[in-house]
Amino acid sequence: MKEEKENDLMEKIVSLCKRRGFVFQGSEIYGGFAGFYDYAHFGLALQNNIKNSWWKKFVDLRRDMYGLNSSIILNPKVWEASGHVAGFSDPMADGKQFNVMFKTQVGAGEEAVTSYLRPETAQGMFVNFKNTVDAFHPKLPFGMAQIGKAFRNEIAPRDFIFRQREFEQMEIEYFIRPEEWKKYFEYWRDEMMEWMEEIGIDMGKVHELDVPDGDRAHYSKRTIDFEFDYPFGKKELFGLAYRTDFDLKNHKLEYIDEEASEKIVPHVIEPSMGIDRAILALLVSAYAEDPEGEQAPYGAGEKEKRVYLKFKPSIAPVICAVSPLLKNKPELVEYANNKVFAPLKEEFGRVAWDDNGNIGKRYRRQDEIGTPFCIVIDFDTLTDDTVTVRDRDSGKQERVKVSELKEYIKEKI
Ligand code: ATP
Repeated sequence: MKEEKENDLMEKIVSLCKRRGFVFQGSEIYGGFAGFYDYAHFGLALQNNIKNSWWKKFVDLRRDMYGLNSSIILNPKVWEASGHVAGFSDPMADGKQFNVMFKTQVGAGEEAVTSYLRPETAQGMFVNFKNTVDAFHPKLPFGMAQIGKAFRNEIAPRDFIFRQREFEQMEIEYFIRPEEWKKYFEYWRDEMMEWMEEIGIDMGKVHELDVPDGDRAHYSKRTIDFEFDYPFGKKELFGLAYRTDFDLKNHKLEYIDEEASEKIVPHVIEPSMGIDRAILALLVSAYAEDPEGEQAPYGAGEKEKRVYLKFKPSIAPVICAVSPLLKNKPELVEYANNKVFAPLKEEFGRVAWDDNGNIGKRYRRQDEIGTPFCIVIDFDTLTDDTVTVRDRDSGKQERVKVSELKEYIKEKI
């Protein structure tokens, strides 16, 4: 019974994502393509907000982090040295090991070499370790950060955007002195938890799994999987790995500590976060149903059940929607456009114009997009310069002066 309900939730989320323009099935008009999805307007906004929040916290607000955007296809020697050619495999049903890296031919004819689409962003950072040290002269500990696509030919892609063949990662390689690994492991564990909470992941659904010997990746001495209660079960959301000096050693890289005039091979703590899994966890965390519904306003009909996504305003694809009560009354439309929409759009960017259908329908639509505030311009507005602001979660409405709208919203977010 419980399982039935949970699968139901997954179905509801998938269909909402399509209906409201968050995520579409890849190549859908040709029957789809397993493991590939396309992000639509609002899903992309969510994705950008997540990336921006991550980059701000882990790069911009720090003094010890260096960003990178490396190429997706690297010299195949990188993947030999990293151990991926030999060992990045999943067991097949018939017991045969299957390397999940996507192969591709680079160049033409006899010149062609076989390389791979990167299965993690991490190696792009390791191979730029020396360049980064030479360019910025960082002192230990310091980190490199990268956001970008990764590709894995997963044997069984499934569960919507949870297990895809093309996905996106946000990764940090944090270089430390070996004797300090425990301290920085704990430090990054706290940082990751803090960020998850910041973006609005339901922390009651997050569990830590200390991955036992034998189950860890080939490079790791300790790993924590942050697992999340998805509707299809408790599965990995993000990972935190102590990669030791495995990668730098394999690439024959080292660090010269100029003060102590000694050479060392730094060790690495790696927080690794998948954007797609973050989005899925956020959708699950934010999904809410109000079976009682609310009385549709402005005589728009009966009470009806409503579904809403209670995203934090900082993450929501749309911060507020602006609506003239009636779209065929030029005086309302003009007021809404010039005095409300234009200035809010300029201030917040993520502001939607919504004049489609009756007000009740617009509220339902914005609820499903997760828009925290809906602003309605009605006939009273024309005489008293106030608008109705309706709160997504409580459904409560307030009259607010147009001249105070920006401040009102800023205060709430
Ligand atoms: P899993 O055990 O679920 O296959 P993993 O342990 O192989 O995941 P990592 O190699 O640690 O994953 O990758 C780092 C992060 O990248 C994961 O925590 C996850 O957020 C994300 N990720 C990994 N594989 C996928 C995938 N196929 N689709 C979407 N995101 C993924």
